[in-house]
Amino acid sequence: MAQPKNDVMDKIVSLCKRRGLIFQSSDIYGGLANSWDYGPLGAELKRNVKDAWWRAAVHYRDDMVGLDSGIIVHPTTWKASGHTDNFYDVLVDCKKCKRRFRVDHIGDTCPNCGSKDFTEGRAFNLMFKTYLGAVADEGSVAYLRPETAQGIFLNFNNVINSSRKKLPFGIAQIGKSFRNEVTAGNFTFRMREFEQMEIEYFTRPEDAETCYREWLRQRFDWYIQLGIKKENLQLRAHGSDELAHYARACSDIEYNFPFGWSELEGVANRGDFDLKQHSQFSGVDLQYHDQVAQKKFFPYVIEPSGGVDRATLAFLVDAYHEEVVEGRNRVVLKLSKDLAPIKVAVLPLLKKKEDIVSMAKKLKKDLQKDLVCVYDDTAAIGKLYRRQDEIGTVFCVTVDVQSLEDQCVTVRNRDTMEQERVAVDQLHAYLTDKLKN
Ligand code: ATP
Repeated sequence: MAQPKNDVMDKIVSLCKRRGLIFQSSDIYGGLANSWDYGPLGAELKRNVKDAWWRAAVHYRDDMVGLDSGIIVHPTTWKASGHTDNFYDVLVDCKKCKRRFRVDHIGDTCPNCGSKDFTEGRAFNLMFKTYLGAVADEGSVAYLRPETAQGIFLNFNNVINSSRKKLPFGIAQIGKSFRNEVTAGNFTFRMREFEQMEIEYFTRPEDAETCYREWLRQRFDWYIQLGIKKENLQLRAHGSDELAHYARACSDIEYNFPFGWSELEGVANRGDFDLKQHSQFSGVDLQYHDQVAQKKFFPYVIEPSGGVDRATLAFLVDAYHEEVVEGRNRVVLKLSKDLAPIKVAVLPLLKKKEDIVSMAKKLKKDLQKDLVCVYDDTAAIGKLYRRQDEIGTVFCVTVDVQSLEDQCVTVRNRDTMEQERVAVDQLHAYLTDKLKN
């Protein structure tokens, strides 16, 4: 994959570190490749991304349920799924500049130095191996899951029997996955430990194609509803030579990152591969029993599979704006209000005036029950506004001398920078209403 064409990524990486969104993992030890930690604001942002997904995937639907299965599952799972035999990347090293690439990411020319002289391809299984129990021998080998999907298939009968779902229905899951990625990542785009948001949607075989198209549309729209600009998203259908061993059809939802168009999420029609494989390997019948037609069959599976970290990065990149306001550079994260880590900052205009400070602190306390708020009095107001703009805080509420007399405060809108006087007793309703719509 090409390196950053411009300095936007550098600016975002630096903003993320400076403002506590994303830190390099283990940086006191010199860092750990392809590993990143989310700081105080990043943790909020990532939670908001996952909550928005969960609401859309589970709470707003009648045909979906959630699941939270384990990271380590029975090792036979990975034989049945094909990961033990097929989950390989083929890597080559450029003999001239010594950079390492995935064969499927380059043509016959080194993207770094232009040479065409590569080493022979070598295959690496991406799964992390571990051992269960006291003895580390071949019989105790287990793997950290490279995708969350298999936990869903293993629980197919459990979910049907406990929730009485009828086809078509789906199971959604968010959780950590692990892949021993050996090529250099672009910030959080490629990590060894990352989170996925996955849906396995079970349908009658004859409805699978329609269902696949419908999920593609819905997942594409989800990113747009949460603020991604339409021109920065595209669908790319996989060619038949590119399809995974199980897939009948697959399309990627791609985002126009500063380092090029890259996959945010894959939507695949997996046919009946998974349930059939697990039935065969476990000896347990995972067919669906149609009570009305009195017949049993393996449902087809449509799988929208996205990454929390890649989605979060795309939201950050898309929200990043620089503009000149009254001769000064303003950096603002125009994150959607659902995703913004902080919704409201309460700022006293004069921190030396006790009445103002206590009024501001009381306002923050009242608002924090329903909205994520902060109180900040550590700089002059201009600087406080700039700090909040940089992390995407949707509203700033300022308490000034006049507030003590007229019981009104100034509410400043992040995007328009317009300011409005709002009565203190109306403030909660005003803000919750604006943040809802
Ligand atoms: P790539 O080709 O970029 O390695 P993939 O096609 O192997 O990705 P999938 O197996 O389809 O990825 O995984 C589904 C989703 O999980 C991806 O669309 C991505 O959002 C996320 N994902 C996969 N691998 C990683 C990773 N190493 N770091 C962060 N997110 C990842």
